[in-house]
Amino acid sequence: MSTLPPLPYESPATARDLEIMREQLGRDMRGVVSIARRCGCGRPAVVRTAPRLEDGTPFPTSLYLTLPWLTLELSRLEATGLMAELTERLAQEPALAAAYRTAHERYLARREEVGEAEEVRHVSAGGMPTRVKCLHALAGQALAEGEGVNPIADEVLPGIDGAVPELRCRCTEVEGSGAAAPAAGTEER
Ligand SMILES: [Zn+2]
Repeated sequence: MSTLPPLPYESPATARDLEIMREQLGRDMRGVVSIARRCGCGRPAVVRTAPRLEDGTPFPTSLYLTLPWLTLELSRLEATGLMAELTERLAQEPALAAAYRTAHERYLARREEVGEAEEVRHVSAGGMPTRVKCLHALAGQALAEGEGVNPIADEVLPGIDGAVPELRCRCTEVEGSGAAAPAAGTEER
């Protein structure tokens, strides 16, 4: 059994949450376990999912960012080439690399609390443990677990207005992040 502290912001997923996530993603969110973090307005921001979906498909990204405005902000950052820069730094900075590996192990241990999928047993998310491939997945972990768990997300999130320390609502403010924005959260599929 896991010896991790409970996820600090976790709350049950309601029928209304499932509806909102359908709007956020433009499709049904599958394998929902709970809501791991909410926007300042109460809408789901990070959903916790089972590592195996109802149809048997493995789904390693078990802390999945659904919040359109934050998804868009992270996509903008990804488009600047930041991920190559961060991956390069992992190769250069042993302390950063070690903390990132610890985040990877934490991801796997957290996921094991809600199920197992043999095919993805050693696969976490976002490129961990040696690369930075998806800021959305890393932010999902950081927002669900709180500061001090994912060192890359902890560097990136303070550069986004409203992301930390509290997740402030920008749902109606960030242009292009409206409900049913088709790009929301598709990076890890
Ligand atoms: Zn909001």
